[in-house]
Amino acid sequence: MTTETFEFQVEARQLLQLMIHSVYSNKDVFLRELVSNASDALDKLRLAALRDDAPDADVSDLHIELEADKDARTLTVRDNGIGMSYEEVTRLIGTIANSGTAKFLQELREAKDAAGADGLIGQFGVGFYSAFMVADEVTLVTRHAGETQGTRWTSRGEGTYTLERLDEAPQGTTVTLHLKPADSDDQLHDYTSEWKIREIVKRYSDFITWPVRMVPERTGEDAGDREPETLNSMKALWARPRDEVSDEEYHELYKHIGHDWRDPLETIRLQAEGTFEYQALLFLPAHAPHDLFARGYQRGVQLYVRRVFIMEDCEELLPSYLRFVKGVVDAQDLTLNVSREILQQDRHIRMIQRRLTKKVLSTVKDLATSAPDKYATFWREFGAVLKEGLITDSENREAILAACSFASTHDADAPTTLKDYVARMKDGQDDVYFMTGESRQAIENSPHMEAFRAKGLEVLLLTDPVDEVWVDAVGEYDGKALRSVAKGDIDLSGAEEDKSEAEKEKQGEAYAGLLGWMTEHLGDDVKEVRLSSRLTVSPACVVSDSGELTPALENMYRAMGQ
Ligand code: ADP
Ligand code: MG
Repeated sequence: MTTETFEFQVEARQLLQLMIHSVYSNKDVFLRELVSNASDALDKLRLAALRDDAPDADVSDLHIELEADKDARTLTVRDNGIGMSYEEVTRLIGTIANSGTAKFLQELREAKDAAGADGLIGQFGVGFYSAFMVADEVTLVTRHAGETQGTRWTSRGEGTYTLERLDEAPQGTTVTLHLKPADSDDQLHDYTSEWKIREIVKRYSDFITWPVRMVPERTGEDAGDREPETLNSMKALWARPRDEVSDEEYHELYKHIGHDWRDPLETIRLQAEGTFEYQALLFLPAHAPHDLFARGYQRGVQLYVRRVFIMEDCEELLPSYLRFVKGVVDAQDLTLNVSREILQQDRHIRMIQRRLTKKVLSTVKDLATSAPDKYATFWREFGAVLKEGLITDSENREAILAACSFASTHDADAPTTLKDYVARMKDGQDDVYFMTGESRQAIENSPHMEAFRAKGLEVLLLTDPVDEVWVDAVGEYDGKALRSVAKGDIDLSGAEEDKSEAEKEKQGEAYAGLLGWMTEHLGDDVKEVRLSSRLTVSPACVVSDSGELTPALENMYRAMGQ
């Protein structure tokens, strides 16, 4: 068979360079990444078998195997899972099919300290490439379950990789790392050391539901062949009593299922007993993925049935506006070959969704008081997504509003809740005022704000596109109307002493000529020209009717082609 050489994509090459010169200080995690991939591959194969999609595959002893060779300085990670076809190897391993990568690389270069870089790496799923942190050559041999031919991929992580078709290969994937030369005194990073491997597996991959096996080293006296040993406990964290599981263990599970290298912001546990039993372990990530708003974004909640992995991104478990939540739901009473169609109609799944939704919302709300820093991070990353729920989920509207916060003229640095806004409302103020716009600055500079500033009335500053829509959908809070300062005729007289009617009339007469002239000249461009009390400095401004689209919303709809 011939060996062909290919060039890495530019982005892939840059990423590999970063891996080779390791910006990441904790190199141990390369093994976690490889074990995680192997585990995913086993999950996929079992699932295919459950669905009768893999008739020729061997699913009798699915497992992961580690093998270290001190003399050759190699470490091998082997699984007998789903494997990859030739085409899949080129697509999945040779390129980074990820539009966010360029942006990521830029950020990585700008992150001055190692900690910042550490944080950034995981966001873009560079899992497999992390092997090049410790290896100067990586070989991957793989055969897709059910196919006859295999593929060998080799690279030194520099500019190129080679591909070769193989007539024979074991089912699944074998990754062999040729380890970089170790400093002789660097025991800590000797990845051929049995205790080192045990330690890493225990720390990062203990919960993996497949056995991770290794043949222990032979000791002097007993020379015979040894039986492989399973290194991980395989215990599902969500099924273990809470006080038995450390935060660190939860975090490692999050990294595996979330394909993230960073700790989650918050862990949420939920147990339901009785007629329909299930356990849920949910995580709020600390960072929004770059494709959160892209079509086809994969949601993060996995469905298990009695410890068996069933589905990767189970949309039925959480509403779309909570699509950033990662985690696991393990239900006792579903059948193993449950399908999407069944799930969509399942009454119990709907009950689970309702309960998880409420739990996530109350957790976010509680964070605001119990951990303001975490809440601030959450809001910065996911606030815009959460607000979609104000439009789509009227059942939970109150709970969502209670979890929301908004920039406000009250305090330039701290956003406010609606509850706090209402508590600060002035005597005679009936409405909650807001203005939408592109940025805080653009809003603050708007002439619409003048009268409010002059009268000391607080205005919420809404700058996400979704804000235009939810304020209309929600309409009011706590009996107070949500009112745009840029729309219609706003009567601010309640909050100040009134001009007398006579005075107003006089003013009207004095300006009648000007207004008439303007109406004539502006013609169809405006509906009406009128006197206003909303300005204090600017001579004039354009105002929409209350029921009309604001300019920003008009732009949004136009951009959407509507
Ligand atoms: P991620 O796991 O986040 O998708 P990786 O870089 O770790 O990113 O892996 C890239 C892809 O390569 C995986 O999504 C998977 O499709 C494929 N892959 C990696 N390792 C294996 C394996 N052991 N068996 C089958 N496919 C694999
Ligand atoms: Mg991976």
